Amino acid sequence: VDAAVANPNRTVLELDDVSKDYGHEVAVENLSLDVKDGELLTLLGPSGCGKTTTLRMIAGLERPSDGQISIADEVIADGSSFRKPEERNVGIVFQDYALFPHLTVAENIAFGLTEMEEVAVAERVDELLELVDLSTHHDKMPSQLSGGQQQRVALARSLAPEPDVLLLDEPFSNLDVRLRVEMREEVRKILKRAGVTAISVTHDQEEALSISDRVAIMNDGTIAQVGDPAEVFENPESRFVASFLGQASFLSARVTSDVIETGLGSFNVELLNGPVEAYNGAMVDVLVRPDDLQAMPTNESKADGYVVHRQYNGPSFVYRVELHSGDVVHCMHNHVETFEPGQPVEVDLVADHDLAWYPTE
Ligand code: ATP
Repeated sequence: VDAAVANPNRTVLELDDVSKDYGHEVAVENLSLDVKDGELLTLLGPSGCGKTTTLRMIAGLERPSDGQISIADEVIADGSSFRKPEERNVGIVFQDYALFPHLTVAENIAFGLTEMEEVAVAERVDELLELVDLSTHHDKMPSQLSGGQQQRVALARSLAPEPDVLLLDEPFSNLDVRLRVEMREEVRKILKRAGVTAISVTHDQEEALSISDRVAIMNDGTIAQVGDPAEVFENPESRFVASFLGQASFLSARVTSDVIETGLGSFNVELLNGPVEAYNGAMVDVLVRPDDLQAMPTNESKADGYVVHRQYNGPSFVYRVELHSGDVVHCMHNHVETFEPGQPVEVDLVADHDLAWYPTE
């Protein structure tokens, strides 16, 4: 199956100032979002932030309280009109796949192709089986398939009617951890080959960063930031985004024209996003990830702080260190030698990239 041609300049899905409340509960508030043709965008955020409600409004399972939703330049929901799910060309892959247990793989995939001639249906099913690499499983029953294979059948079934937009609700939550990582790569490959515009929902930051073209981080019913994975990870616009996308510590610093002065000493590093209050001694909180800081055991008199917690994560240890300045930071230490909570340590800023910062609260 050849990659379908997508036009990255064309907006396929548009949410314009969309809100949804359930009585006093505001689930989604003034949310605007554009998704381009063939793009895979992930809604990422903590439980209750409004991801599922957003997905359900796109599917037509919920009616927005306010705002407008368009698909392929047609308004499908606004103050005066509302298209039902079956009147929208939207496919959904549910968390539990929802395959029909009494139908074969081929029959499951053909299920939504009611308007097609029999011969065309058979051809389309074969094409999709090839797309998801299950051609030899045509006549199997869902119960004879592994979790990953069932997911590929669910994907094929929802792609069969050529939806304008495909929605994926926590697509990997039913898979064990190892298979999850494998299927991320597989699902992304299938979606890209199909050329479909897709929105996925997850609370797993690693999954969002690894499969998406763009990630929209949600908080409290709104989008906190949207951008490509590297952009949102390396340049988070808020502490919330920084902390949600991985282990984040904040180092208080005074900024002068050529250095930042911190509890660890003065460093010559660049800060992201232009000048900080004209560098006239402004106080900021600088974002540091564990690999930006290196901890080393030392004696009491040279220490920058002491270890409060040690976390083993396979390839390395991450130490939580309370600095004499009062900041609490997470640091790496890659060497074999380990040290214990309570032990004094020296901490070095070893970041070799521009650092994000936030005004001191
Ligand atoms: P999760 O990751 O836990 O699924 P989510 O980000 O998908 O969370 P939503 O399910 O969209 O969040 O819920 C957003 C908010 O709206 C929550 O506070 C939730 O309690 C509320 N909510 C969702 N559906 C309803 C409903 N049918 N009636 C009342 N409140 C609802």
